[in-house]
Amino acid sequence: MNYYIEPIARLINELSRLPGIGGKTAQRLAFHIINMPKDRVLDLTKAIIKAREQVRYCSVCCNLTDKDPCAICSSQARDRSVICVVKDSRDVVAMEKMQDYKGLYHVLHGTISPMEGVGPDDIRIKELIQRISNDQVKEVIMATNPDVEGEATAVYISRLLKPMGIKVTRIAHGIPVGGDLEYADEVTLAKALEGRREM
Ligand SMILES: [Zn+2]
Repeated sequence: MNYYIEPIARLINELSRLPGIGGKTAQRLAFHIINMPKDRVLDLTKAIIKAREQVRYCSVCCNLTDKDPCAICSSQARDRSVICVVKDSRDVVAMEKMQDYKGLYHVLHGTISPMEGVGPDDIRIKELIQRISNDQVKEVIMATNPDVEGEATAVYISRLLKPMGIKVTRIAHGIPVGGDLEYADEVTLAKALEGRREM
């Protein structure tokens, strides 16, 4: 039996489908929203819809963007001879916060994971190869996480790139094994980038 009236039950149900939101949190958020001024609720819903509608993938680097190509790909200040390959958009944010890297990015949107049924064709590897054959890229830095999937993905991509005459490097293990690039602090990340080695 449901203890909540239908509109509240529905809101709780929708909220609890979000990652990291358990039943208790969903209830708390639902009651918070119900008590919010109506215009703030409207702002919140508008922000959600706008983000979902306006954010798409950059046709060059596959990062999330609201203009295509994204600000990084279209910037004249970036070094176009280096591409840093990362698992997802949050990693780009982590790298940018470091303010040390001036090259371009390529966002894979995942890593190869046979256990989870994710193969090379399920992530943006094709786009990377395409891009490299067209551009004046000299170095590709593999900055996937230092876990099993991240390593396997780095090795897979480096085997595709090396015959193309591209220098492929791997960020150093300043990032703890099994760790997440996204959660590394800026100093650790800067050291990992600085200490990268050729694959
Ligand atoms: Zn881009």
